[in-house]
Amino acid sequence: MPADIKDIAKDTIRNLFAKNILPTPNEYHKEFCNVAKTYDLNIKECKQFKELISKLNEEEQKEIKDKNITTFEDMIPILLNRVATKNLKTLTSLFQESVTPSISIGLDESLTKFSVKIGNSPALLFEEDIQKEMQSFITKRFEADQKIVKQKTAEIAKLVTLMGQYLNDAISSSGNSGDEVSSIKDEIKAINLTENGLEELTNLQSKLISAAMSIENEMHQVEEKLSSGKTHVEELEAKVKKLEEELDKSKKESIKDHLTGVLTRKAFEYEANKVEKNYERNSTQYAIVFFDIDHFKAINDTYGHAGGDMILSTFGKILSKYTRELDIVGRYGGEEFVAIIHFNLKRELLKYLKRIKSIVTENNFVYGKYKIRITFSAGVTIRNDHTSFDSALQKADMLLYEAKEAGRNKIILEDHTII
Ligand code: GH3
Ligand code: MG
Ligand code: MG
Repeated sequence: MPADIKDIAKDTIRNLFAKNILPTPNEYHKEFCNVAKTYDLNIKECKQFKELISKLNEEEQKEIKDKNITTFEDMIPILLNRVATKNLKTLTSLFQESVTPSISIGLDESLTKFSVKIGNSPALLFEEDIQKEMQSFITKRFEADQKIVKQKTAEIAKLVTLMGQYLNDAISSSGNSGDEVSSIKDEIKAINLTENGLEELTNLQSKLISAAMSIENEMHQVEEKLSSGKTHVEELEAKVKKLEEELDKSKKESIKDHLTGVLTRKAFEYEANKVEKNYERNSTQYAIVFFDIDHFKAINDTYGHAGGDMILSTFGKILSKYTRELDIVGRYGGEEFVAIIHFNLKRELLKYLKRIKSIVTENNFVYGKYKIRITFSAGVTIRNDHTSFDSALQKADMLLYEAKEAGRNKIILEDHTII
């Protein structure tokens, strides 16, 4: 006769009593199922435990076997280790965010489909195939972003090179594009490509382009100014050249007096100025001599103007001939001459003056059939005795006047030496 539940219950209690185990629900359940097995009786509750174990994953089944777990109660701590559905959902959305394109916008539809799939069944995250697929999406996403960053960096490098060229060309250009460019340069330095997105790179690019354009614009303006200025400068250059030629011509004409061959008054003043500069630097001693032909009016009256001219011409030649290269002789007015004579010792100066006087006064001036004798008067000052060139010049003129007053044919020096 087959055993019924009551027999099993009786045996169970007896067994527990014999093993000295208290019949708690858990212990009772274990023993009950053992007894049921011996009676070969199918008890639904005893089967349920086994069926549940078969539905658990490999690791859980192994743990249950290793720990010899036989009751629902003892299984609870193992099941508690399982990830809650809520947490699974959080994990899923984290993955979806991590593979959603940020820099690169070029990832294909397959990612969207995959995201929807695991979003609907988060538990798929634990399947090996799905995990492999996730890995491949993550790799793809990094590769795509890297490619875009590389491309953008290359574009920036190209733009910066172009800017460099623009700047070199625009060196002479003014305006504020220089400031603009240097602030952009700072921005480029500050930008962190790994932290900033595509939008900032694009903004930077357009800033660079507009700065380049404003520089280019300025360059054009400068070029225009230069080319219009160039023709103006060329015209001025031609004018200057012509004026220089005219000046050169008149210089040559004006430097020497055509009648006497000595320097004109203007040329004398120019040369005297050079001597004066040299005196100021090196204290080179010199004397100023004013000559005036005596009674020249009478010569003109006697021999005519041409006769007068011949006397003037010869007098000039005598002065030129007996005056050294470094000294200066000029025609100051009608029959008035002036000389600058350098000397070291006073007797050298006196020697020069005496020589001129004897040559002029002891020789005949031949004019046609006439042999004419002339005399001259002169006033002499020494530059060292005066505070300025003009003062020395004026004093020489005064001494000449004194010589005339004193009866002519005399050379008077400031120290009252009379030759
Ligand atoms: P003094 O002894 O006081 O110097 O009397 P002077 O007659 O020499 O002086 P004055 O100033 O009275 O006359 C100078 C004359 O020289 C007047 C002028 O006609 C003449 N003269 C000036 N320049 C020239 C010239 O280039 N050629 C000729 N032939 N005569 C000239
Ligand atoms: Mg005179
Ligand atoms: Mg005279």
